[in-house]
Amino acid sequence: MITTEAAVLTAVNTPLKLTTIHVDDPEPNEVRVAVSNVGLCHSDLHYMTGTVGTDLPVVVGHEVAGVVEAVGSSVTGLRPGDRVTGALTPSCGRCVNCNAGHSTQCRTVAEARQRPRPAFQLPNGEPIARLADIGAFSRHILMRENSLVKLPDEVPLHVGCLLSCCIITGVGAVFRGAQVRPGSTVAVIGCC
Ligand SMILES: [Zn+2]
Ligand SMILES: [Zn+2]
Repeated sequence: MITTEAAVLTAVNTPLKLTTIHVDDPEPNEVRVAVSNVGLCHSDLHYMTGTVGTDLPVVVGHEVAGVVEAVGSSVTGLRPGDRVTGALTPSCGRCVNCNAGHSTQCRTVAEARQRPRPAFQLPNGEPIARLADIGAFSRHILMRENSLVKLPDEVPLHVGCLLSCCIITGVGAVFRGAQVRPGSTVAVIGCC
């Protein structure tokens, strides 16, 4: 366990409070990341304003990039010092949907989200929820190895964090949702 700081939401429509928290040790398949950069997504605001319900207290933030600082005993693909960005939805990498390339529809996602102890706790032992089981508005986070992607050296961390949600959401909407192809006629409606 380490002690760090996170911006904690204790009640909707109130400011986040910079708070001392405890971050658990990585489980065998988890990685602890020192967070360097985080985007602010409208999903974070939904939790902060109460339009999407959440347990409280909670650490929001999910568009994250940082540097690996500790790995669990089963982790083989990452090591301390690796620069990474996080994926929003955890996946097992083994079920039929994962094997078909649809990791966002992993059949064991509920199981993947479970861990034996809270990842974040207040110093008094009270558990702190994490948006998307990430809670990126913390200086240190825990994520599963297969929810992290190494960033190429030429991608700076402040750009890499946007790959977590902002960029892939837009790209998915264009190429998967709207099925835009070369030659398609499209209307571009503002920016969000
Ligand atoms: Zn987002
Ligand atoms: Zn799966």
